Amino acid sequence: MVDVRGVHKAFGTLRVLRGVDLRVRAGEVVVILGPSGSGKSTLLRSINHLERLDRGFVRIDGELVGYRRSGGRLRELTEREVLRQRVHIGFVFQDFHLFPHLTVRENLVEAPVSARRVPRRVAEARAAALLARVGLADKADAYPRRLSGGQQQRVAIARALALEPKVLLFDEPTSALDPELVGEVLDVIRDLARAGTTMLIVTHEIGFAREVADRVVFMDGGLIVEEGPPEQVLDAPRHARTRAFLSKAL
Ligand code: ATP
Ligand code: MG
Repeated sequence: MVDVRGVHKAFGTLRVLRGVDLRVRAGEVVVILGPSGSGKSTLLRSINHLERLDRGFVRIDGELVGYRRSGGRLRELTEREVLRQRVHIGFVFQDFHLFPHLTVRENLVEAPVSARRVPRRVAEARAAALLARVGLADKADAYPRRLSGGQQQRVAIARALALEPKVLLFDEPTSALDPELVGEVLDVIRDLARAGTTMLIVTHEIGFAREVADRVVFMDGGLIVEEGPPEQVLDAPRHARTRAFLSKAL
């Protein structure tokens, strides 16, 4: 499904990703943990080509993301071609990124209608079903600013799902929320995990990682230091850096 190979990324002299290999299978939930600055967001952003790679590549269902092979070399796709690929890669940001001038319903309908040419009526019916799924059926006509952070994030998740992505990427989806609103967002993600949604989740919620992850990946210094089932990485980490991180996080 998602295949990240040998990805390197530097900002000037700062080497943020130093050769990351990661594969996510269909239906798998992978949680990425790691200290601030370890490259977690840059890795997620690289997967949907919000970052240009210095080396390596990303494939989703076998298709290169952001590039095409041409005469043995990788050539970057046009912005329009990249946008077409991003339709299949849902991204949920820490700070929601909803369209403030659109109602909740319109937030969910806009992209399917414009990017996937889904008939408006079909998109609206699907939006209603998705809002029900995230517990917000009664908020379809509200504007984002009238919603709590937890509600806004649930809308953002529903909006990502409206495009029927192959994979959903979450970058700290609960870290901008007041503590009492974290649970409602984690509940939605937990439901998606049960339904077999392929997800890559960056979070600092260790307990949640233990619960939903099929696999936990620990990053430090732009590298995957160790990975494995949650009970192994979280309860019996092999690497000293993982142990140091967990002892501070718990
Ligand atoms: P956090 O847990 O704080 O979100 P992270 O693991 O997500 O951290 P990244 O956001 O991937 O870390 O950033 C890794 C490093 O790259 C940091 O030192 C950051 O300052 C730097 N960085 C990220 N984006 C850019 C950019 N566009 N230009 C310059 N430096 C950047
Ligand atoms: Mg980050």
